[in-house]
Amino acid sequence: MNVAKSTSDWTYAHEFAHCTGLPDEYSYSTDTEQIKYIKPDGTLDAAISAPSGGKSKTAADATIMSAVDNTTTLERHAWNIAIEVQELLRAKLGRAIKCTIK
Ligand SMILES: [Zn+2]
Repeated sequence: MNVAKSTSDWTYAHEFAHCTGLPDEYSYSTDTEQIKYIKPDGTLDAAISAPSGGKSKTAADATIMSAVDNTTTLERHAWNIAIEVQELLRAKLGRAIKCTIK
């Protein structure tokens, strides 16, 4: 990540979210693509639209991962953390642990 004094708070937050494993929710091509998150129970969530260039900051479904300067975070943005915690606790306790994000 390249940063400068002028780097926005949003950019730091968005890039930190990548550090937890979150994908961009926009397409790198000219096509609108779809993204599916893995839930803590191992199933795939419904596909979300990932348009080229991202979403408008004010779009109803815009998030911190899809629109510049949007700070909306959703449960799916913490599912990777729940999955990691489940695995850590399973390994330490020797039994399955179910973590959810609310
Ligand atoms: Zn990004």
